[in-house]
Amino acid sequence: MPRLNLLFLFIIFIALTISSCSPKEDAITTKDQLYVYLDTLEAKYEDACIATGLANWNLYAREGKPNLNAAKKKFATIFFDTLNRKIIEEWRAKSGSLADEMLTRRLELWSRGFIGGNVYADSQISALENNLQELITNFNFRFESNSITLAELANRLKTENNEKQRRKLWLTTSQLSGKAADDLVKLVKLRNEKAASLGFYNYYSLSLYLQSIREDWLLKNLNELEEKTRNKFKEFIESSKKKLKIKKFHAWDFDAALYRWATISDNNFPKDSIFNILHRFHRNIGFKVDSLPVKEIIKDIPFGGLNIGIQIPGDSRLIINPINGKRFYNIAFHEYGHALQAVHTKVNYPILKGYKWIPGVSSGAYSEGVAEMQTEFVDDYEWLKAFTSASQDEIERYIASRTFSDLYYLRRTLKDFFFEYEVYKNPDRDLAELERETYLKYLLVELDENTPHRFAASIRYTMYPCYYQNYILSHMISAQLFEVLVSKFGPGRISNPDVSKWIISYLYEKGETEEWADRIRNATGKSLETGAYLRKLKIMN
Ligand SMILES: [Zn+2]
Repeated sequence: MPRLNLLFLFIIFIALTISSCSPKEDAITTKDQLYVYLDTLEAKYEDACIATGLANWNLYAREGKPNLNAAKKKFATIFFDTLNRKIIEEWRAKSGSLADEMLTRRLELWSRGFIGGNVYADSQISALENNLQELITNFNFRFESNSITLAELANRLKTENNEKQRRKLWLTTSQLSGKAADDLVKLVKLRNEKAASLGFYNYYSLSLYLQSIREDWLLKNLNELEEKTRNKFKEFIESSKKKLKIKKFHAWDFDAALYRWATISDNNFPKDSIFNILHRFHRNIGFKVDSLPVKEIIKDIPFGGLNIGIQIPGDSRLIINPINGKRFYNIAFHEYGHALQAVHTKVNYPILKGYKWIPGVSSGAYSEGVAEMQTEFVDDYEWLKAFTSASQDEIERYIASRTFSDLYYLRRTLKDFFFEYEVYKNPDRDLAELERETYLKYLLVELDENTPHRFAASIRYTMYPCYYQNYILSHMISAQLFEVLVSKFGPGRISNPDVSKWIISYLYEKGETEEWADRIRNATGKSLETGAYLRKLKIMN
């Protein structure tokens, strides 16, 4: 096999040497020619993005045949073309002398895109991803010999009073994990091999590089969040034990505990009015809701919600999973936030529009952060007063106890992040044991050795690898942005049409023409830090 590979490389080398004398490359000697070349390449790239968007949409919305493989092939023709890559790298090396910021930025993102695209379009990796994706998406969970959806499981886990039943409900996803784990480990190893071949320590390090996240900076911030929230989280568990009248607190008790703490009634968040309310609010703050190219549907999918910017800025579509209560609204606002960003992007160059498919050409932390900023409204006193029928008393009690669910979300995501981070470091270790260790460290609950694992049931590890840090960074981002909105607009933050103007010009319009960290600094006047998030969690430094 290695000998064959060498031979193959040699043939490619010869082919490259020959093609480098061809007129195709020689033709690109001026900036104008580079423009024409990039424009053509980006038209092809956008075509592949649209095909992939539609295939994913069809997979989840079940509106047509999901042609995932055909869509991926379109990317492969771009990112496996070594001549393309050579031209980009040559021009990127002299981009300093081009005196053209936008062109420099395009070359930079293309360069990252070639690394990310090489992994993304790898046929072995994507074949395994697609198989797993289909297994996970179509899996038929059984509970007490009946079929049950993930949304039903989530709803029942919250309301179930019997501890033993909760354990059974919680363990239901292990049915899938048992079937998916081997392939997931295989996938992790393939991704690591690919990363090593591109010169990276492992796939996680590669992913962070592509997302412009410094690994040491990230770990420092995440560890800081863990340490500073640990005591308050312990308090939550202790008082929840009393509330649920249980001696020992387990992993399956979190949803039930939170449901009993969060005192705002599900009735304040009627499912069938979601889009009415969401549109009314966004109209209030100046968005031209009625003419935006956003499609919205409600459907059972294997996670809370998703938005696909199919053609940016002309076509964005979102799906939300029909769960009950405020979380349904949170997710709807979050996904709508993604849609708003997509349809307000004012960038002509496809590589800078922020399509999410190829690692390296968009910032997940940033787009999650600005999407999550919309969810901050649903948590906001002024908004709850104006847009729900909850009494002032109910809202105040809810806000006082909400910190617990925010803390749980943070620590659960830390668990998910560190689990995956460790898996990529050593995929051969006992992952069920690793799962138990991370539950203990981040959620402070013990799982005994006989508890079947659940990690491989998550579609996130398959389809959105190395992404969990973005959910935490996004909360740091949304908290920091919302502090600015509150200080800038005061109570008018839910009614002043200038709010949308500020959001569009600072956060949406520029797409990926600037680094994400610069966009945060320009909008908030400081670099991203944990302060605003910890203040939201009522933990003061
Ligand atoms: Zn999101």
